[in-house]
Amino acid sequence: MGQWVKLICGASYQDMPTVRRLVMLYALAGVDCIDVAADGAVVAAARQGLRDAQWLSDYLGNRSYLIPDFPWLMVSLNDSEDPHFRKADFDAARCPAECDRPCEPICPTAAIQFQSPQVGGVTTDLCYGCGRCIAVCPVGNIEARPYLANPEAFSTGHLAQIDAVEIHTQTGHQAQFDQLWQRLQPWRAHLKLVSISCPDHDQVVPYLWDLYNTMAPLGVPLIWQTDGRPMSGDLGKGTTHATIRLAKKILEAGPPGYVQPAGGTNGYTVDKLIALGLVNQASPAALLDDVQPDQLPAPQPAGVTYHDSALARARTNISGIAYGSYGRSQVLPLLDAIDQELQPWLGKNFPDQLAQGQHTSLPYLKSTASAARPPWQRLEDTALGQGLTLARQIVAQLKPEGQTSNGQTLDDPNP
Ligand code: SF4
Ligand code: SF4
Repeated sequence: MGQWVKLICGASYQDMPTVRRLVMLYALAGVDCIDVAADGAVVAAARQGLRDAQWLSDYLGNRSYLIPDFPWLMVSLNDSEDPHFRKADFDAARCPAECDRPCEPICPTAAIQFQSPQVGGVTTDLCYGCGRCIAVCPVGNIEARPYLANPEAFSTGHLAQIDAVEIHTQTGHQAQFDQLWQRLQPWRAHLKLVSISCPDHDQVVPYLWDLYNTMAPLGVPLIWQTDGRPMSGDLGKGTTHATIRLAKKILEAGPPGYVQPAGGTNGYTVDKLIALGLVNQASPAALLDDVQPDQLPAPQPAGVTYHDSALARARTNISGIAYGSYGRSQVLPLLDAIDQELQPWLGKNFPDQLAQGQHTSLPYLKSTASAARPPWQRLEDTALGQGLTLARQIVAQLKPEGQTSNGQTLDDPNP
């Protein structure tokens, strides 16, 4: 219906306590999907964040933060070298003593820290590969270490915890894509959605058609994520143009499937998309009115002729949007304070357990917290309230408050 919103935690981002809190905030703010690293521990942290959100929504006493549809959990994989799948690394002993360390403040996640001159380095779990430190190092001392996410590392138990997969690919990588697609066959039965993330290229349209034919028949909805300027949405207004250009190109000539911009998306993107006429302005209910149930856009088997009216409408507009570094940067400064607020309420050792790789169960939370109501009088006076407001403002740009992506409203007694 054109109101799908996804939060990208980062294909390489493995800071589990932060992932958990990001997931909690954005789930309460109404995102439809959350994209995390293909790492079992990160998936577990994200699921814990979803449970926190579900449970917290009961206590907030605020209809804005009821969760009508639980967001889907997506993991990202790469078929070949890709900037989203790399970690920065350097030997601090080789840094010139007189360097004023521009790498340290430019890192958005504080992954680079020095204890003293020429003593420090990158905390790998915090690095998501944005490359900003590499660009500012005056002597080229920082290297990017690429890696391939390994789908076989996912056990059957892990697969049961995820809903969707995203494959990062690039024009010309058909052979690598085919290989990864074959390795993903054991995943197929678990997936509700497949997303393909690809940057622009003068041959990108025929390349995506080739991928479409490789995957046909797919049997679940397919998203083309137009990866404009990767990991840049927090850098400024102009970063959004590349993804919009690519989205237009795929809408006009790309294969069937939903089109969703990412890579450089920020607070300006939806306004720009609306100005270009690429956002559905009709209410979801109005769209559904003239579509028969058997014409609904999901599931949409790849290889089927692209004819039904719902999909035809979707193809004139983007179907959703994903926020990565912009969405994270808006709430990251509040996460420590939110932890402080939640700790006395939810239990003293609550955040530490995740850092140690343990995962708090919902019954633990309930038994600990049921004796106490939230310690705040007014949610809006808390860091949690501020974080929720910021996250909600981002989500609401495409999905008005109180509306779910499947067209239900929270006030509808018979959704
Ligand atoms: S600036 Fe980016 S690439 Fe460098 S350490 Fe930080 S997150 Fe990693
Ligand atoms: S900018 Fe480069 S040389 Fe300077 S401290 Fe950082 S890694 Fe070392």
